Amino acid sequence: MYDVIIIGGGPAGLNAAMLLGRSRRKVILFDSGKPRNRWSVNMNGFLTSDGMNPRDFIQKGRAELTKYGIEIVDTAVETATYSKGEFVVNDVDGKVYRSRKLLLATGLKDNLPELEGVEEMYGKSIHHCPYCDGWESRDKAIAVYGPERKGIGQALAMKTWSDDVTLFTDGTDSLTRADKELLERNEVKVCKEKITRLEGADGMLQHIVLSTGEKRPQGALFFSLGTQQQSDIGKQLGCEFTSKGVIKTRKLQHSNIPGLFVAGDAARDMQMVVVAAAEGAKAGVAINMDLQKEDRK
Ligand SMILES: Cc1cc2nc3c(=O)[nH]c(=O)nc-3n(C[C@H](O)[C@H](O)[C@H](O)COP(=O)(O)OP(=O)(O)OC[C@H]3O[C@@H](n4cnc5c(N)ncnc54)[C@H](O)[C@@H]3O)c2cc1C
Repeated sequence: MYDVIIIGGGPAGLNAAMLLGRSRRKVILFDSGKPRNRWSVNMNGFLTSDGMNPRDFIQKGRAELTKYGIEIVDTAVETATYSKGEFVVNDVDGKVYRSRKLLLATGLKDNLPELEGVEEMYGKSIHHCPYCDGWESRDKAIAVYGPERKGIGQALAMKTWSDDVTLFTDGTDSLTRADKELLERNEVKVCKEKITRLEGADGMLQHIVLSTGEKRPQGALFFSLGTQQQSDIGKQLGCEFTSKGVIKTRKLQHSNIPGLFVAGDAARDMQMVVVAAAEGAKAGVAINMDLQKEDRK
């Protein structure tokens, strides 16, 4: 019987493990090795580690946990159930684990544009988050991908990082007159042609090729097409979700299920490494405080 099972070994899960290990709790952490930013070569915006490779960040985090006796298992969890104050977790190899508290830190995955060339460039010159990658794209010719009306907000936002912003609606024509006037007033160009493919070298976007054969020179592409939970364990356990598909959390990362905490991107809040790590720390402290109360004589 563990005090805590943590599912997910990204920044949220690892930081929670650190606080719980330092609180002398018996903790096991499962990780399937697919952190959301694994596509990327730089992790930006984390004070003291700005620009660090995300893989190095995870390795460093794991190394820091060794002295606290955290068990780390590089395996995916398949199912989790809760009954009478006990969580029962099954990994994909059929092994069963029990705990008093459970932390979900399983993260999200992004809906990528369905364009030829995206996977090679995602995380290098194709991005979804301007706070993570806007600085590196500053003053470039920035493309925003947004069929129908999906790219308007992001195209306007990207003007903070470059004067040269074009919204590509990829063969759709749903912008209203007011949308067009707003974009024009803010000097955002619009291209309605269907995109055939993206061209670049070493992960760096060079051209967007249109169905007309025209090649538009572009240095970066941003998109915002929504996300999905990386794991369905929150759903299995009966968590409440927001309309955007993230798990509703209360103060200190409590979920609606007693003893179940959720931290990082899987939970409601800003989706950045520093925020995920901070939520993991909050959950770690809250879990320890709940265990202390339960054990007090
Ligand atoms: C391309 C890209 C670039 C980014 N760049 C930045 C940046 O520069 N700066 C920044 O602050 N943020 C950046 N982000 C956002 C950042 O990746 C996330 O905010 C952060 O990773 C969230 O941490 P997390 O611990 O919640 O989840 P994750 O880091 O996604 O970790 C979740 C972990 O849970 C594991 N997992 C999931 N399901 C299971 C299961 N059933 N069993 C076991 N393990 C499971 C996964 O394998 C994964 O290792 C970027 C995101 C992307 C996509």
